[in-house]
Amino acid sequence: MPAVLRVALPVPLPTLFDYLPPATGGAVQPGSRVLVPFGRGQAVGVVVATGVEATVGTGKLKRALRRLDDEPLLDAELMQTLAWAADYWLGAPGEAYANALPLALREAKPLPPLGEACWSLSTAGRSALDAGSRRGASHALLAELAAGPLGAAELDACLPGWRAAARRLLAAGLVERGERTASHTVTTRTAPALSGEQQQAVAAVAGDLGRYQPFLLDGVTGSGKTEVYLALIERVLVQGRQALLLVPEIGLAPQTLRRLRERLGVAVEVIHSNLAEGERARAWLRARSGEAKVILGTRSAVFTPLPQAGLVIVDEEHDGAYKQQEGFRYHARDLAVVRARALGVPVLLGSGTPSLESLANVEAGRYRALHLRARPGAVRPPTVQIVDMRAQRLDHGLSPTLLAAVAETVARGEQALVFKNRRGYAPVLLCHACGWHADCPRCERPLTLHAGRRMLVCHHCDHHARLPTTCPACGATELKPLGQGTERLEEALAARFPDIPVLRIDRETTRRRDAFEHLLDGLRDEAKPAILVGTQMLAKGHDLPHLTLVAIAGVDEGLLSLDFRAGERLAQQLVQVAGRAGRAAKPGRVLLQTHHPDHPLLRQLLAQGYATAAQSLLAERRQSLLPPYAHQVLLRAEATQRAAVDAFLAEACAALPPEHGLQVAGPMPAPMPLRAGRQRGQLLLEATNRRDLHAALRPWAAQLARLPAARKVRWSLDVDPIDLY
Ligand code: ADP
Ligand code: ZN
Ligand code: ZN
Repeated sequence: MPAVLRVALPVPLPTLFDYLPPATGGAVQPGSRVLVPFGRGQAVGVVVATGVEATVGTGKLKRALRRLDDEPLLDAELMQTLAWAADYWLGAPGEAYANALPLALREAKPLPPLGEACWSLSTAGRSALDAGSRRGASHALLAELAAGPLGAAELDACLPGWRAAARRLLAAGLVERGERTASHTVTTRTAPALSGEQQQAVAAVAGDLGRYQPFLLDGVTGSGKTEVYLALIERVLVQGRQALLLVPEIGLAPQTLRRLRERLGVAVEVIHSNLAEGERARAWLRARSGEAKVILGTRSAVFTPLPQAGLVIVDEEHDGAYKQQEGFRYHARDLAVVRARALGVPVLLGSGTPSLESLANVEAGRYRALHLRARPGAVRPPTVQIVDMRAQRLDHGLSPTLLAAVAETVARGEQALVFKNRRGYAPVLLCHACGWHADCPRCERPLTLHAGRRMLVCHHCDHHARLPTTCPACGATELKPLGQGTERLEEALAARFPDIPVLRIDRETTRRRDAFEHLLDGLRDEAKPAILVGTQMLAKGHDLPHLTLVAIAGVDEGLLSLDFRAGERLAQQLVQVAGRAGRAAKPGRVLLQTHHPDHPLLRQLLAQGYATAAQSLLAERRQSLLPPYAHQVLLRAEATQRAAVDAFLAEACAALPPEHGLQVAGPMPAPMPLRAGRQRGQLLLEATNRRDLHAALRPWAAQLARLPAARKVRWSLDVDPIDLY
């Protein structure tokens, strides 16, 4: 019996593939990559097992072409975790491995060298910085390099558009380009004396270094969570170990990166999906070699090899961005916990608004809760006031109370933020003569009016249409925008406050990210009046000490949603946005406009805070047996023909094992039955016991691809879906 290799290939099929070992080149170990013939071409796969018994006659097996790694690229822990992940998320095993490996390492090429180009100050550069002889981007780059050399990935994260400045300064001899090994940098900032609560949190986690234990660090924005992370990472570094810190979005990385660098005195690897592939592969390899000690990254960084792991941290653990919504639908927070267990290290989940999942894990005794209740920098928590919109005369959706508060704030020379979670000018364009409104032909949902671009845009499928001047149904010219988006609020506020800068921050405007970072830096450093208008993007990251008013222009969509997670999301969003007010010495104020001032969730949130509101939400979930007290798997299908969707879901439903004991909802149309011209349907499977759910669905999931109707639809399985759309 020849030794057979079992190989994971990057294809969306629920199987591993058997090959005979390559004819030459020595033994192959699990975790190594091999080049194999596949279909009419070749593919790079990861060897999952060696010396296994073939599932088909060995006469039929093809031979692997060549071994790509002398030593396993993926260590035993990552291999074990990936096998677990593929099984848990009912994904194609090959896709799990493909997610773990940076793209550049999925090619049949030798590994790139570990070194990374890096930039540092020359002596002349340091003098230029001290003398302040450079301005703008050049000055910013000199300042960034003051603490020590930086690699491209770090610069990308903290100073977008730095390359032009680097070229200029290189030519002027003010910076030097070198090759980085694990460089030590100067620590330019010392830690503040930790508060009692912070010390307790640090001591609790530090007491468990060297063994698995999950912690939930519950503290509002500004309560000092990052200081706790820093103190713990310092301890891990002293032991010569590695720390992995996950953040939900790359937009949050620059401030955190700066703080890590200024304090820790070691190079920080940054891993995120916007990184050039070569850089990402090198960062991954430096982590694998143990050279990289601190790794800061977004979702996919959860797959970074950590041969000397000491600690895993997940910041803003409630954030939905940790869930991958396509392909291999893993959740990076949950995977971080699983990895910590496999690595035998503590994992710290931090949030000011913990997810109900994590709170339930605390309740069940699986996670230990740590609390930070005070805000060290701020004088006192912001005051919150509800503005009843029903009796008010609104100006583009803004009440007199809200406008007066903005006026007072800017008159004091402070900054105000007006929050509305909707991009564009108005969510509906309506004909006053006949009632026609502009709908997306591919989704049958209203198109959003974008006035600046003179376009109607579908926020579900990105369909664009020219703005009509007359009603297509009746020819009337009375087309009226209905409702408000950030663009309209920006226009209304700019008209009302002509002397005050009004800055809009949403997905559209932040494409010009450099310019924005610059403007925001200005607002951070100087006490000058300004009005910010933005979507939830604004809720995150930016720490503006002169921002004293947060005015929430509307939350009613969230209150009326049917999604069982809407309440949790709304509560998190409100608390996060409100947390922007009064972060420094000046007291903050929060205004909340609503047509439903008596809504129980709002009332409870305001009167008793997030923790109490979250407990009520949890009690409701328990009562109606919803996650986290039940577990869900969603089978989605879409096709251009509704009949194809129905046929597939019916076959899938019929293929469920007999007496599976699961709750089955559907087959039914998806909450958005038509999207981008495709008919959509779903089948929701639920159980109160996760083991039962997986036991029943494992063989079923493997069968789905072979159903006769499967070829006519696009389908996917989502374990623990967070979005039922
Ligand atoms: P979070 O991560 O919870 O938002 P941070 O760690 O960023 O909180 O702390 C908020 C602000 O308070 C920061 O400016 C930080 O430097 C400061 N800070 C945190 N802890 C302390 C402390 N113990 N003493 C003084 N300042 C602190
Ligand atoms: Zn009309
Ligand atoms: Zn659409």
